[in-house]
Amino acid sequence: MGKPTGFMEFKRLTEGYAPVEQRVNNYREFVAHLSDAEAQQQGARCMDCGIPFCNNGCPVNNIIPDWNDLVYRGNWQQALEVLHSTNNFPEVTSRICPAPCEAACTLNINNDAVGIKSIEHAIIDKGGENGWVLPQPAKKKTGKKVAIVGSGPAGLAAAQQLARAGHAVTVFEKNSRIGGLMRYGIPDFKLDKRLLDWRMAQLAAEGVQFQTNTFVGKEAPGKEVANDAQKTVSPQQLQNNFDAVILSGGSEQPRDLPVLGRQLKGVHFALEFLIPQNKEIAGDAKNPINVAGKHVVVIGGGDTGSDCVGTSNRQGAASITQIEVMPRAPEHENKALTWPYWPMKLRTSSSHDEGCERDWAIATQAFNGEKGVLKSISAVRVEFRDGKMAEVAGSEFELQADYVFLAMGFTHPLAQVLDAFGVEKDARGNAKANTEGTDCYHTNVKKVFAAGDMRRGQSLVVWAIREGRQCARAVDEFLMGSSLLPR
Ligand SMILES: Cc1cc2nc3c(=O)[nH]c(=O)nc-3n(C[C@H](O)[C@H](O)[C@H](O)COP(=O)(O)OP(=O)(O)OC[C@H]3O[C@@H](n4cnc5c(N)ncnc54)[C@H](O)[C@@H]3O)c2cc1C
Ligand code: SF4
Repeated sequence: MGKPTGFMEFKRLTEGYAPVEQRVNNYREFVAHLSDAEAQQQGARCMDCGIPFCNNGCPVNNIIPDWNDLVYRGNWQQALEVLHSTNNFPEVTSRICPAPCEAACTLNINNDAVGIKSIEHAIIDKGGENGWVLPQPAKKKTGKKVAIVGSGPAGLAAAQQLARAGHAVTVFEKNSRIGGLMRYGIPDFKLDKRLLDWRMAQLAAEGVQFQTNTFVGKEAPGKEVANDAQKTVSPQQLQNNFDAVILSGGSEQPRDLPVLGRQLKGVHFALEFLIPQNKEIAGDAKNPINVAGKHVVVIGGGDTGSDCVGTSNRQGAASITQIEVMPRAPEHENKALTWPYWPMKLRTSSSHDEGCERDWAIATQAFNGEKGVLKSISAVRVEFRDGKMAEVAGSEFELQADYVFLAMGFTHPLAQVLDAFGVEKDARGNAKANTEGTDCYHTNVKKVFAAGDMRRGQSLVVWAIREGRQCARAVDEFLMGSSLLPR
């Protein structure tokens, strides 16, 4: 513990944001990391708790008190080493993780949590700026080959761990660039894609091979799912040519809203808007959806919906309304009941701050149009009685809309991919595999493993990294009989 009185002396500092009127004019990141001195002071707020709840609340079990102390003492390089010992991609989590560690921090009970995420951000950015993040190729090769299907955080974390253990790893990705939803879901203004290229260069130098534009399976996905594939590889080919296969294809089937008028021009799944926007910024192709001067309604109150709000503002929408079927959550949690767990409370993102109307407890009844083009939506207020949703009589209303983005989550992974491998599914349609025990992450099909959203359902980047790392260890054990990779 750096400074025993630090938490009493120093207040929590939040990172600086570029003003709204500046940042909505472009797609660049707008959060500035803390200066060295600020981060050191924030590190001093950590109490080095006997039971560090932050470490337990973090899905990758980041060794937070240690790097807080190292930053306080100015030992940045060692802090970076400790950070990397549990997390392959801190440049991503330090930008877009909701930080369950901070909800779990002991200081959060009666004070403001330690600014863990902002300290992580300062550490990894300093590491990048100083060239401290170098490839760590394996000293000895095992001669074993592993195929990974899907290049999101789960697949990439597994790839890096397995390459460092000496295996020959090939990542197959149906889209044209590597990164999964980090590349094509999360907008540039939250995560600069140059960071992904930077990290991919490290993976490549460690021996990971990438095959993009390659779909693994038999039957291609429907048009609601992004697919740039120009080549198909069958499950049989992978099973014949590799010693183990990891399925980390994410949870890509979007939840639909099949009400009257769903087919109207202007009604889209959120990713039909967000993916082309990311591609446009990368210089690949223009986004066919442009909401400049248009009225936008986003249906769904989560991260994906908030990203549609931020992107619509940057395109210059005339109005943006985000509606959600669930009731409005309370502004503040009752910490006595929720700590150290992730509380249900109203979350207002930086995209919301940039301007949008938000409304809750609303169900969409129909999309209305003229000549096949969306003009408005019909909606009704709902209330929840005994856990059941009921419409409020007489509360029907209409909302002007030129575009609707459906951001209601994802139901399950692509069933045809799991079926093509003969992988058993759980009750929610995810790949079935345990995460505990001797043969964890192994599906019912020999040498086929599953991790990330494809196994656990739609989740977070930090959970995908955890699953990728743990799955890598399970695969290493399967191939070698034992493993030195961390769990
Ligand atoms: C718009 C949006 C915003 C989000 N924002 C956040 C956020 O701010 N913070 C956060 O923590 N989480 C966020 N998430 C969730 C997070 O992105 C996911 O939980 C995470 O990326 C899952 O990682 P994954 O590796 O399991 O799968 P994914 O990232 O989904 O990657 C799967 C990859 O597999 C590929 N693939 C699938 N099937 C095949 C196949 N058969 N052959 C070849 N390739 C295949 C896909 O093309 C994809 O690239 C967001 C999600 C969305 C949609
Ligand atoms: S719970 Fe908070 S105060 Fe305690 S060790 Fe973790 S970061 Fe430090």
